[in-house]
Amino acid sequence: MQGLSTAPAERNQMAATWLAEFGDALQHGEYARTAAMMHPDGYWRDLLTFGWIFKNVHGIDAIRAWLFQAVGSHAPHAFRLDGEPFAGAIGEHRATLNFFFTFETATALARGFVRLVEDPVARGPMKAFTVLTAMHELKAFREPVGRRRPREDMRAVSGEVENWLDRRSQAREFKDKDPDVIVIGGGQSGLMLAARLGQLNVSTLVVEKTDRIGDVWRYRYRSLKLHNEICMNHFAYMPFPDTWPVYIPKDKLANWLEFYAESMEVNVWTKTTFLGAEYDKAQGRWAARLQLADGSIKIMRPAHIAVAVGVSGLPNIPAIPGQNDFAGPIVHSNGRIDKLDVTGKSLLVVGAGTSAHDIAQELHARGAEVTMLQRSSITVVSLEPSSVRPYELYRQNDGIRPIEDTDLMAASVPYSLLARLHKPLSRQMAEEDKDLLDGLRRVGFLLDNGEDDTGYFLKLLRRQAGYYLNVGASDLIIAGKIKLKAGVDIERLARKKVIFSDGTALEADIIVLATGYKPLHEAVRAMFGNDVADRVGPIWGIGDDGELCAMYARTAQEGLYFSGGGIPGARAYSRYTALLIKAALEGLIPASEATAESTPARSRESERRKRSEPVT
Ligand SMILES: Cc1cc2nc3c(=O)[nH]c(=O)nc-3n(C[C@H](O)[C@H](O)[C@H](O)COP(=O)(O)OP(=O)(O)OC[C@H]3O[C@@H](n4cnc5c(N)ncnc54)[C@H](O)[C@@H]3O)c2cc1C
Repeated sequence: MQGLSTAPAERNQMAATWLAEFGDALQHGEYARTAAMMHPDGYWRDLLTFGWIFKNVHGIDAIRAWLFQAVGSHAPHAFRLDGEPFAGAIGEHRATLNFFFTFETATALARGFVRLVEDPVARGPMKAFTVLTAMHELKAFREPVGRRRPREDMRAVSGEVENWLDRRSQAREFKDKDPDVIVIGGGQSGLMLAARLGQLNVSTLVVEKTDRIGDVWRYRYRSLKLHNEICMNHFAYMPFPDTWPVYIPKDKLANWLEFYAESMEVNVWTKTTFLGAEYDKAQGRWAARLQLADGSIKIMRPAHIAVAVGVSGLPNIPAIPGQNDFAGPIVHSNGRIDKLDVTGKSLLVVGAGTSAHDIAQELHARGAEVTMLQRSSITVVSLEPSSVRPYELYRQNDGIRPIEDTDLMAASVPYSLLARLHKPLSRQMAEEDKDLLDGLRRVGFLLDNGEDDTGYFLKLLRRQAGYYLNVGASDLIIAGKIKLKAGVDIERLARKKVIFSDGTALEADIIVLATGYKPLHEAVRAMFGNDVADRVGPIWGIGDDGELCAMYARTAQEGLYFSGGGIPGARAYSRYTALLIKAALEGLIPASEATAESTPARSRESERRKRSEPVT
């Protein structure tokens, strides 16, 4: 059996030989030969190169069938190694040969990433355990970046009356024309998508309802810092400065968002709320209603709308019997917690997700007597060593390769494989966190390891809720400094009292509802109506096709896209959303593929998610 050589020249030779054969087979339509180069347990993920969708396929037979059906007219060719092959490991494959490659299709310049492993049955060439093929740029609309950055003919333009500032102001105004794209929400997702669309010369307006870009972070509780490390949180085109801390404080990030929008020349209207829109299929345009800063309503007609309103935009505020009798304030976690006078007060935090923990910790530090009400179990992991394990890839490659490359490596692992890998990994994390978890169990804290035993990271990817990375609140709970009431609900409120479903009661002055947000689907229903919401179907959650439902890709509603979530996902996948929108505007997507495959009701998980508890 051919082993994995450590000598760079040999690795190079092995990768080059494999890629030459792979490229030749694909280029000549010999898909059985291509599929035979995969490991029997191999995975192939394709992001827009062989169809205008995200696709993942597992196993030789399925890959062969998909290649026969999908590749033909895309005419892949010009396969080339991209950089030095390197050694790696994934799951039970302790020695893999990894390499990037580039190739072209009829319309696109594409990139790929492969992990080769030893042939399990025969003495022969290595087999691919994972293959990623991903569109990088549209050939006809390349981004003017790096060495292709815009260059003016200084002599020709020196006599012009208008300067850069005049042109920026005009572009931002949209005085006599409508944008091709409206992005709802000027958070990190909306801004990165708009920045990418700008690079593709797509006229784009971001509408943001708050007074200033970044307010969404400014108004979150004071102690908040990003919970994962800076190495995975860089923004598209603009990595953070080397001087920045590992965990970014929320106000620093808020100011960065403003700075990013300015630097990337993103057109943002603040104090502008997107109210709703109707789609005119004949015109291929939306009629979007915007409420402007002065309260007036403006109708704009973009061809595409991207919803980037965060987890949902609609806080989940449960109705509690007796809430009108309660003497003190009842505040949702997205409200102004910093304005509450809490010193010496008894305070109940309802919920046990990340926000609940962070708020409980902050209010305890500000001198409140805090009790946390935990209604259902969550996953808890230590910040280190455990929480960082799932993104070890980003830590290892930090400063070694461009983050775009690490994003490709991450994207090459489909969610089904990720879930497989996270079962043993999350068990190992729980073992390492034994003291922490035992301590929590001792005080009655309800713990789980995810519904399919895959730990916090899959929860994060699927629904961004149901976990806590311990930045100190767990220690306070174990020490009894934050009190815990677990496994019960609120029966009713009295003037200064919370009565629980087990008959016990708590004297309370203030209640904070860290009860999360309604599913995004409900915000879509409110903004776009029942028809569109039903057509789009579930959002977030992993569908039966093994991809996130409705996120970043085309949806079953023409001209409607969703972007959101953590910074890494928004950074990596905004590229593909922007390419899809550009391709649609340029007429590159055949009419037969005008909308995505119907997404509704395709996932048991997402259906459950649609019905189930809010995201926290
Ligand atoms: C406590 C907490 C900690 C987190 N920590 C991390 C972390 O460490 N790393 C990480 O990657 N992610 C983290 N996240 C998750 C995620 O990155 C953030 O939630 C992030 O804010 C999501 O960005 P977004 O752009 O999708 O949405 P948001 O930041 O929520 O932005 C949405 C924007 O849309 C605007 N908007 C909403 N509705 C409308 C409307 N109708 N019209 C106009 N504007 C509208 C809002 O005002 C807001 O500015 C954290 C989230 C929370 C809550």
